[in-house]
Amino acid sequence: MSNNSSQEIPGQLVIISGPSGVGKSTICNLLVERLSNAYLSVSTTTRPQKAGEQDGVDYWFVSKEEFGKRLKADSFLEYAEVFGHMYGTEKDKVLAALEQGRIVLLEIDVQGALQVVKLCPEAKLIFILPPKQADLQARINDRGRDAKEDIETRLAGAGVEIAAAWQYYKYMVINDDLEQAVNEVVDIIAKPVGE
Ligand code: ADP
Ligand code: 5GP
Repeated sequence: MSNNSSQEIPGQLVIISGPSGVGKSTICNLLVERLSNAYLSVSTTTRPQKAGEQDGVDYWFVSKEEFGKRLKADSFLEYAEVFGHMYGTEKDKVLAALEQGRIVLLEIDVQGALQVVKLCPEAKLIFILPPKQADLQARINDRGRDAKEDIETRLAGAGVEIAAAWQYYKYMVINDDLEQAVNEVVDIIAKPVGE
């Protein structure tokens, strides 16, 4: 990073979306290093845990029954079915972090982002794009996390999500050079709401 100093920016809700494999998690993890008051929400999912993933770090992995119970108990700020599994953001830790004035990063899909914006119109919506379709494919393959079938589902979903994003997202960032993409996201977070 050209600028490694931690930066203080007042608390806010920031949504980072983008097709699978574009680099959302990579960018979010770098934002947490860069912004001393950032809090990265860990989503809850019914998707099976994959090799190399850690419960409580990558996701909170739960059964469909447990997800259903939490849904009934109104535990989620937002939730959606993505690629055949349920994903949701639990309210409690997000609200606590916002109360502490932290920058809360939600790495969620477009369906979830639209739910959050209804509750919090000031949330910043940032969509991460790949430089080209071929880069997305290469990144998903090279990550080595997903089975062939999962890769196909994720690549097939990318076009739909990108089309929706052009309609709803104020900020679009191309993740070509990683450092530059992180810098752009930091600049967006630093902008006053409405700019
Ligand atoms: P997502 O969270 O959007 O599914 P990841 O953060 O897991 O994507 O990134 C997918 C792969 O792409 C990872 O192997 C990551 O190291 C790589 N990656 C991320 N950003 C870039 C970039 N700018 N250039 C090349 N590879 C990248
Ligand atoms: P993956 O299974 O590849 O880790 O994630 C698939 C997609 O699910 C991600 O690209 C992301 O957009 C979405 N996702 C992850 N967590 C959440 C969440 O808590 N809520 C919603 N709505 N989508 C999520």
